[in-house]
Amino acid sequence: MPEDKVVLCAGDRNCMDIVKCLIAGSGPAGYTAAIYAARANLNPVIYSGMELGGQLTTTTTVDNFPGFPDGIDGGELVARMKRQAERFGVEVRSGVITKTDFSKRPFKLTIDSKDEVLADTVIIATGASAKYLNIPGEQKFRGGGVSACATCDGFFYKNKEVAVVGGGDTACEEAVYLSGICKKVSMIVRRDVFRASKAMQDRVASKSNIEVLWQCEPLEVVGDESGVTGIKIKDVKAGAERIVPVWGVFLAVGHHPNSEVFKPWINMDAEGYVITEPGSSKTNVPGVFAAGDVADLHYKQAITAAAAGCKAAIEVDKFLQEV
Ligand code: NDP
Repeated sequence: MPEDKVVLCAGDRNCMDIVKCLIAGSGPAGYTAAIYAARANLNPVIYSGMELGGQLTTTTTVDNFPGFPDGIDGGELVARMKRQAERFGVEVRSGVITKTDFSKRPFKLTIDSKDEVLADTVIIATGASAKYLNIPGEQKFRGGGVSACATCDGFFYKNKEVAVVGGGDTACEEAVYLSGICKKVSMIVRRDVFRASKAMQDRVASKSNIEVLWQCEPLEVVGDESGVTGIKIKDVKAGAERIVPVWGVFLAVGHHPNSEVFKPWINMDAEGYVITEPGSSKTNVPGVFAAGDVADLHYKQAITAAAAGCKAAIEVDKFLQEV
């Protein structure tokens, strides 16, 4: 962009620093956007958000990201993306965006409820976070027997019985991971089929210490002062309720997009997924783009998030050249 077009310091702002391309989120979408933006001389700044590195840091081996024929640990993959971004001068700032004002450019964003930053363009790459069930006992024992991350907390349940709720790829992955640590894993699946891919289903089937409890709905996490002692479920087919005795309950029932802070300005669907123009990362606010799981109801893969980040950075560059 020609320098004379950078009219970003006028009026009442007292020449507060203006970020040319602010990227919210530090997962594959955010880092890929940052790599492309940096290479286009847009001096991108990443605000890493609450979950530094995003969901990849809570997963085990990633087997489907091209370029790693033997698989790669999720945390390692995202750490490499960060190093790659930093090689091109990307500034990664820790901080959570707590307020936005997209009424005019440059946009105003509040970080950690105190600092303000102005940005000429924004890429929303805040991803998605694990959902909870909202059943009794769940919040009470959160962090003390209820977890949404097997790789983070599985170690605490060595040689013990645990339950995994959910029938998707995450649930299967968590169950397989836990089967290597725990004595027994009970998978609580509400339908009579998995939602997970065939490959993940096969991995579950290959583990003798995973039992799948089909058509069972979680009702309550039960426990005492020592922590979780079981999960109460309703066996829909048998029409009966029972308690499965476990020490830990791992939730893997999907994710919700981290888009709340952008809601006043950005069009979203009922679930909070950012709506972008078809085939583009443009949102309804010119200069604000979205990439990755926060705008992706369907694919939700590290590779699709990375690709979306790439597209967003290219679109930011084009936008800045045209304004
Ligand atoms: P999904 O939405 O795919 O699956 C959620 C699971 O939780 C479903 O089985 C769903 O049941 C169940 N569920 C939802 N709500 C409840 C509830 N209240 N009570 C009981 N069960 C419930 O989420 P995932 O996190 O598994 O996967 C998200 C995306 O990430 C997917 O696209 C997946 O393919 C991808 N992924 C890929 C991986 C890989 O390739 N290695 C690893 C992990 C995720 P129901 O089926 O009945 O709706």
